[in-house]
Amino acid sequence: MPAGFKQAINIGVRLFMDAKLLDILVCPLCKGPLLYKKNENELICKADRLAFPIKDGIPVMLEDEARKFPPEVEIK
Ligand SMILES: [Zn+2]
Repeated sequence: MPAGFKQAINIGVRLFMDAKLLDILVCPLCKGPLLYKKNENELICKADRLAFPIKDGIPVMLEDEARKFPPEVEIK
């Protein structure tokens, strides 16, 4: 198998995994759906007003690590 072809498969698998990962991710507190913010690289739970960071491509689903939104901030 040519190296380039193998690499293309690896990238494809990775993209698929990423999509799957985002698909199954729910809030660890309320089990609700999360909003993925590409620019901030965070996963946001609107219900709990928490933003979970994504470090090195891996979502950190810990309440202690999450950023809290102040009450006056509107989450879009
Ligand atoms: Zn939640």
